[in-house]
Amino acid sequence: MLMETNSYHQIGQSANEVCVEMDLLQVGSEPVGMRCPYCCEEVMTRAMYKTSRTTHLVALILAVLFWWLCCCILPYIIKRWKNVEHYCPSCRRFLGSYTTNKIL
Ligand SMILES: [Zn+2]
Repeated sequence: MLMETNSYHQIGQSANEVCVEMDLLQVGSEPVGMRCPYCCEEVMTRAMYKTSRTTHLVALILAVLFWWLCCCILPYIIKRWKNVEHYCPSCRRFLGSYTTNKIL
């Protein structure tokens, strides 16, 4: 018996072919080797560093404590206080993200 359901819209808007069923990946702050679920290529993810709430928080703390050193720009340079978003270098889709919640 055929059961057609239209309740298959939880991931993405368009019905793209997905070769591997998976949730967004658990990734760290470094690029990882994986099979892209969208284009099925074996790829090394491209890690993009994004400023996060932690980045701004650290900047604020530094600005208050060490305002004379002008080091409040440091969090925007240092990667450990940024979120990391992983993209497929082949199809450029978003694959997963790593969130930094630690200040130290
Ligand atoms: Zn891909």
